[in-house]
Amino acid sequence: MTTITGLLSDLDRVLLSTEQIHARIREMAAQIEADYAGQTLTVVALMDGALFFVSDLLRQIDLPMQIVTLGASSYHGSTQSSGEITIQWPKNAQFKGQHVLLLDDILDTGLTLTAISERLRQEQPESLRTAVLLDKKRLRTHEASPDYCGFEIADEFVVGYGMDYQGRFRNLPCIGILKP
Ligand code: 5GP
Ligand code: MG
Repeated sequence: MTTITGLLSDLDRVLLSTEQIHARIREMAAQIEADYAGQTLTVVALMDGALFFVSDLLRQIDLPMQIVTLGASSYHGSTQSSGEITIQWPKNAQFKGQHVLLLDDILDTGLTLTAISERLRQEQPESLRTAVLLDKKRLRTHEASPDYCGFEIADEFVVGYGMDYQGRFRNLPCIGILKP
């Protein structure tokens, strides 16, 4: 087993270990599997941050599903938290009448989840729920509360397990806080 010591040395501290993440994802998968028993899921996974979250979570859910990936990027206007979001909407995806589960890595201001949920609702899904690995406890500019949440964390910038800082640290197997 290789260790990513080079990346770890840039961390101030580990917030969630690989083992903690995997254990919690197993619980989330079991809950989702029970809640959707007998149904077919349409998962909408937000790239790139949710990459490892969705791949670990979905491989533990024993239900028929289709997986749609969606690119979304947000640009927050300086300190004014007036956010704007660009969504790369998939061309041939069908959401009408589907049980849609929207997955993202982290809920911060709420802009991403509310904007994409709103857009998805226009497609008239049968149901729409959201799941995030991390929920940052902070004042939201857009009110959003996920149906499934892995961990509540403090308002700090995190990297690892899919989440980046300037394009780096996504491949870190744990979640950590960078050195200042
Ligand atoms: P929101 O739209 O809720 O403000 O932010 C959600 C998006 O911002 C997430 O999908 C994620 O890409 C990014 N984000 C929010 N907080 C963090 C963080 O602490 N670390 C990283 N790497 N990305 C974050
Ligand atoms: Mg993201």
